[in-house]
Amino acid sequence: MKHNSPSVPLVVIGAGPAGLTAAHEATRAGIRTTVLEASRWIGGIARTEEHQGYRFDIGGHRFYTKVPEVQRLWEEALGPELRATPRLSRIHFNNKFYPYPLAPWTTLQNLGIGPSMMALASYAKARIQPTPQEDTFEDWVTNRFGRRLYETFFKTYTEKVWGLDCRQIRAEWAAQRIQDLSLLTAVRQAILPARSGPKTLIREFHYPRLGPGMMWDRFAERLKEEGGRVETSADVMAIHHAHGRVHSVTFHQAGTHHTLQTQRVISSMALDDLIARFNPAPPPAVLDAGRALRYRDFILVGLVLRRQSNFADNWIYIHSPAVRVGRIQNFGNWSPDLLPDQKTTSLGMEYFCSRGDDLWESSDDALIQLASREVEQLGFATRAQVAWGVVIRQPKAYPVYDSHHHRHLLTIRSWLDTLTNFQTIGRNGQHRYNNQDHSMLTGIAAIQRFLGQPADPWQVNTERSYYEELKTSS
Ligand SMILES: Cc1cc2nc3c(=O)[nH]c(=O)nc-3n(C[C@H](O)[C@H](O)[C@H](O)COP(=O)(O)OP(=O)(O)OC[C@H]3O[C@@H](n4cnc5c(N)ncnc54)[C@H](O)[C@@H]3O)c2cc1C
Repeated sequence: MKHNSPSVPLVVIGAGPAGLTAAHEATRAGIRTTVLEASRWIGGIARTEEHQGYRFDIGGHRFYTKVPEVQRLWEEALGPELRATPRLSRIHFNNKFYPYPLAPWTTLQNLGIGPSMMALASYAKARIQPTPQEDTFEDWVTNRFGRRLYETFFKTYTEKVWGLDCRQIRAEWAAQRIQDLSLLTAVRQAILPARSGPKTLIREFHYPRLGPGMMWDRFAERLKEEGGRVETSADVMAIHHAHGRVHSVTFHQAGTHHTLQTQRVISSMALDDLIARFNPAPPPAVLDAGRALRYRDFILVGLVLRRQSNFADNWIYIHSPAVRVGRIQNFGNWSPDLLPDQKTTSLGMEYFCSRGDDLWESSDDALIQLASREVEQLGFATRAQVAWGVVIRQPKAYPVYDSHHHRHLLTIRSWLDTLTNFQTIGRNGQHRYNNQDHSMLTGIAAIQRFLGQPADPWQVNTERSYYEELKTSS
């Protein structure tokens, strides 16, 4: 079935943080906006899924920003329901817990005298004789931490997250995420935390009482109150253009194809999908560039335990190569209101994977079995204590920075720039590894650009976002 609707001033594709912020800014500027969201949830990767009364965050979303306008938007939306939350996270390796960020004395104690001396010697060697050309993640980290610490604290976890050998990951990526934190700085900061805590170390963050989705549900509600529209289960299939302008968008909803005439389009869908949906199709080189972009996928296995929690961390990084789980969230420690029953525990077992690999292809039952086995193997609960589990799959959780992605992005951008009333924004919409605040800023910049102000979402400065130091994934 086909259905044609009248023209709308602005269509925003995607009801994640970027799309909803763009829609919010547009509505405030008096531009009537329709948001089209493919899934039934609001919030994109930052949604909260509710199953049997338990709320699951897709990975544990800290609300932390250095940008006052973003903080103000969050506070305006949720008021006291956005709570300050203390942070505790540790690394689990070889059956021992290491505080994160690394505290040198505990690290040395846990490693033992012999391995600690070897770690210091390998650090000294790296300082005296660094690898002259830092091409890879391995080169970059080893030069700053020495080979031993690299192997203990960076290699296994990074390889779990990215499914790539650290020698295949570009140094540029490590430089962006880990920043220039040498071992000496780490040691100094651990000893003198008050004077010189790491720039981006976050001891407290904000968190909505009912999980991150609460923020984005609120944004959507406010948009509707102000006259905007949000259509869920509305999968955009085609973006039609002619003479350098987009003129309509076709989406599929409840068995019907709808076509919306529009004056402007902002999209936060992943760039590879976007390029494939233009009608007429872009030149072959642009199609090829879109197809060449790569992503890492993610599975959250939620496990509800028939017992109270036995650890205080918000999340624990699991470095052991003996299990496949990469990180464990303890949702009750983010907000007790995520659980309907405080005598239970709700864990998020995080598996980094790629569509088509054995994890992604496993049945939900098999994944719940795997997570239950691993939670026991790691000593957090027995299998008998697992009451039930749920599997949440998140495709394209992480845009991959490989050695060609810059070139592909340039090809795609130069073609998209020929469309004067179109803008791509957001994490996968710009193939950038950004957090919620950064995605929001790209949405704000898109509206400013449409209003004729000197703003460009591609120029949103990632420095204004925060990055976790030492770890390689958020
Ligand atoms: C494991 C994990 C942990 C994270 N932790 C943090 C954290 O602690 N703090 C933080 O700030 N950030 C965190 N992030 C990042 C955060 O999730 C993202 O920055 C944010 O969700 C990006 O928002 P976005 O709107 O750009 O994209 P998305 O959230 O990806 O939203 C895009 C939306 O577009 C929709 N869409 C796609 N295709 C179509 C289509 N064809 N038609 C209609 N709609 C479509 C999607 O369904 C989706 O809802 C984390 C991410 C991951 C993966």
